[in-house]
Amino acid sequence: MAFDIEMIKKVYDNLDAKVNAARKVVNKPLTLTEKILYAHLWDGQASTAFERGKSYVDFAPDRVAMQDATAQMALLQFMQAGRPQVAVPSTVHCDHLIQAKEGATKDLATANNQNKEVYDFLASVSNKYGIGFWKPGAGIIHQVVLENYAFPGGMMIGTDSHTVNAGGLGMVAIGVGGADACDVMAGLPWELKFPKLIGVKLTGKLSGWTSAKDVILKVAGILTVKGGTGAIVEYFGEGANSLSCTGKGTICNMGAEIGATTSIFGYDVKMADYLRGTGRADVAELADKVAVHLTGDEEVYANPSAYFDQVIEINLSELEPHINGPFTPDLAWPLSKFAAAVKEAGWPAKLEVGLIGSCTNSSYEDISRAASIAQQAVDKNLVAKAEFTITPGSEQVRYTVDRDGYLDIFGKMGGVVLANACGPCIGQWARHGAEKQEKNSIITSFNRNFAKRADGNPNTHSFVASPEIVTAFAIAGDLTFNPVTDTLTNEKGEQVRLDEPQGIELPIKGFAVEDAGYQAPAEDGSKVQVLVSETSDRLQLLAPFAAWEGTDVTSLKLLIKAKGKCTTDHISMAGPWLKFRGHLDNISNNMLIGAINFFNEKADSVKNQLTGEYGAVPATQRAYKAAGIGSIVVGDENYGEGSSREHAAMEPRHLGVRAILVKSFARIHETNLKKQGMLALTFANPADYDKIQEDDTIDIIGLTSFAANTPLTVVLNHKDGSKDEIKVNHTYNDQQIEWFKAGGALNIIRASVK
Ligand code: SF4
Repeated sequence: MAFDIEMIKKVYDNLDAKVNAARKVVNKPLTLTEKILYAHLWDGQASTAFERGKSYVDFAPDRVAMQDATAQMALLQFMQAGRPQVAVPSTVHCDHLIQAKEGATKDLATANNQNKEVYDFLASVSNKYGIGFWKPGAGIIHQVVLENYAFPGGMMIGTDSHTVNAGGLGMVAIGVGGADACDVMAGLPWELKFPKLIGVKLTGKLSGWTSAKDVILKVAGILTVKGGTGAIVEYFGEGANSLSCTGKGTICNMGAEIGATTSIFGYDVKMADYLRGTGRADVAELADKVAVHLTGDEEVYANPSAYFDQVIEINLSELEPHINGPFTPDLAWPLSKFAAAVKEAGWPAKLEVGLIGSCTNSSYEDISRAASIAQQAVDKNLVAKAEFTITPGSEQVRYTVDRDGYLDIFGKMGGVVLANACGPCIGQWARHGAEKQEKNSIITSFNRNFAKRADGNPNTHSFVASPEIVTAFAIAGDLTFNPVTDTLTNEKGEQVRLDEPQGIELPIKGFAVEDAGYQAPAEDGSKVQVLVSETSDRLQLLAPFAAWEGTDVTSLKLLIKAKGKCTTDHISMAGPWLKFRGHLDNISNNMLIGAINFFNEKADSVKNQLTGEYGAVPATQRAYKAAGIGSIVVGDENYGEGSSREHAAMEPRHLGVRAILVKSFARIHETNLKKQGMLALTFANPADYDKIQEDDTIDIIGLTSFAANTPLTVVLNHKDGSKDEIKVNHTYNDQQIEWFKAGGALNIIRASVK
């Protein structure tokens, strides 16, 4: 199931009929994005023109990809569905848990040792359920997906925000939480608000020092980190067709940094070349036959402002290399203005480390262009002034660039090759001296540069640029250097200039690899044992949540009345807790520890109504659970905004919270709560929030006739014996009410499988 040409054939066989059906309902020429979205509607979805930015729509994605940190809970949940195999082709990629310290070989050995139980679990669960498993060292999820699985016109969800990378190969690819991945693997539809559409018209052609990375650095500067929210960005124009497929991938990858749902390019010759170059001539042949449906209609691109909600135009011939940062990826500086900006802002001009690679920029083309600069350092007697690291995106790329001599060139320049993994990009970087928190500068070809992301040091000024600019800066060791105009002094005291980078899109001798690191699943996984140690503190098999007891839910203790912002980070913090992502009981010890208690304005301090004492939220809830008493959490506006992290819904469920009652919900979190069998309720009158008192015991009435569009009643039994009765709303539909009754959506799936 990991790669399925039959699945791709099926998508293409149906494309004509589905796009034509979409034409009828939309009744005007279609963008590429609309074609793919309409072609992936869940069966039975009403054929109607959906309202962009408003309609919630069920989709049927073709694939699921998961990285190792997020796959753990997604797969533990999937096991609950009771299916013998995943419903769509799916893969797991071990890339996030490898720490960069001493170089690829040692770091990989350390990771294999430290994360053994997680890897063993992921390998065995993949083997059992028909999921392709990419071992540690095989590469970074998005590069491996681009090389092996992405296909034009497809739809994929992935448990990582940079899943969007596959838009470079014409796919609608969207980052989601583990619960969504679990649903799709279990055969359920996947819901998305129909996105708005931003069109980016690219004219001209890249040249000199400018690369595909500079397109997205420029777009990030225009749209800012929020400008793409709720939108899909569709690139088109002659400039788009001139970009390599992997360059397109870089642009789509970093579309996550403008908040875009995803980004996409239409199918073209460059994509066909890449498919053939990566051993998928069969996919290219199939795509050629339906090429007309794998790009937007001509009328759309001829008059984009009539079809997109926003249009941006960039002339690649005039585009300068960009450097974005520090601390945010949308602070965009053209190279010609960067030195002055560094001086004016007082950012440390001395460059400590240049880091190239990551899922964003580790293609053959990227490495070859960066190596052409590194070679010049060697040839022109320049000694790199900054440290320099290379993170290949996949073993296939690493092996091929090694064979072709590029790693050797980097080695001569003093570069250190790290494991084919996320490493410094996700803070898995044991950077020497970072704990001193000194002010310093680094530059990377990654995508995110928020404070502390790379090395945990809040004073590290991190900048983002193309690999070739990063390499040039690493040689100069100086952020005020401009490789286009400035010279460097070499070891002989001569002034030398770096020539423009030269690159090769695809290896002339083809890609090669000895062991790509892929493990195919068993044909019949029924006998395969999933490996989880009972004594593990990182992994724990899930038990099904209990079904609803069939009565109103009464005598609930108020656990916390959260004040103000309560994001998924407040509900289930990240940071040190990430290592418990596969262990629901352990990670539940972070439940709501970031939320502010309305009554004392403190975090992680609530009154235990059984003892009258104040204690940590998780400990207080565990006391209620031990006493067999349910509880309720009350919150403010937009409760649960932030990430789609399912732990924020699973933890309260696990610890015995029965309902979350708030002024309003962030929709994804609300849906996650419903999926887990929780009651997600909103005050019919938001002012009733003020009626909640610290010692309240609360009843929820009306559940025996729980129905869509029918409010429930909540009774607040105050300590002084008085009562308030308030109306609460909900958005459960009939299906979701069944989830509640069964104790969770997975319980329903399991029942239907048996
Ligand atoms: S390389 Fe960086 S951006 Fe890419 S998947 Fe890993 S952590 Fe995420």
